[in-house]
Amino acid sequence: MTQHHPDSFSLMEYSAGNLTEPHALCIRLHLDQCSHCRSRVDMLDSLGAIMMEQQPQVSVADTTFDSILARIDEGPGPDQVEAQQRRSVGPLQKLLGNDLDSLPWKRQLGDVSVLDISDRFPGQTEQVVLQKLTAGGKAPTHTHRGEETTIVLQGAFADNKGIFNQWDFVVLNQQDEHKPIALEGDDCITLSVLSAPVKLTGTFTRLLNPFIR
Ligand SMILES: [Zn+2]
Repeated sequence: MTQHHPDSFSLMEYSAGNLTEPHALCIRLHLDQCSHCRSRVDMLDSLGAIMMEQQPQVSVADTTFDSILARIDEGPGPDQVEAQQRRSVGPLQKLLGNDLDSLPWKRQLGDVSVLDISDRFPGQTEQVVLQKLTAGGKAPTHTHRGEETTIVLQGAFADNKGIFNQWDFVVLNQQDEHKPIALEGDDCITLSVLSAPVKLTGTFTRLLNPFIR
């Protein structure tokens, strides 16, 4: 089951249609597999519709905003959480026209392969990268110069913040230094949207690779 979800602000931005296409794709992939977050977005969509209808008579105070966020954070009960589907990448597969294992991966040093798919998003300035870490493999220690939004598409990885399974969502920034390790079993494949390059901090300083963004 998905343990790491997009934060409330990201879901609000998604609901409002304010996210860039690559960021929206990350959220959509997660929503396809997470009934918890789908319920939160449904609630946001409803709230947004009500607020649109009532404008301009209603002004939204900070306290209202906070209470909306609190309600969203509560989410649905456990009975609403569905079983997760495996290996269903839906919108991404349509975009790539291929399954994940058949993509033209570029092998980097060590256990990491990468595929830059930024060109699938014409007009966007962010870098969009698929990253693959061989099952049981390790990525170099690195920090992040900007913000990186990542969703796990297959397999799982662990770092100092915990274990990230399929469809888990994680946002990393300048404060985060980590060294991801793929769990045994499937190769770990992630989709990342990067606002700035990665800064390597370990011994693999010549390495320019994924899991690293
Ligand atoms: Zn979720």
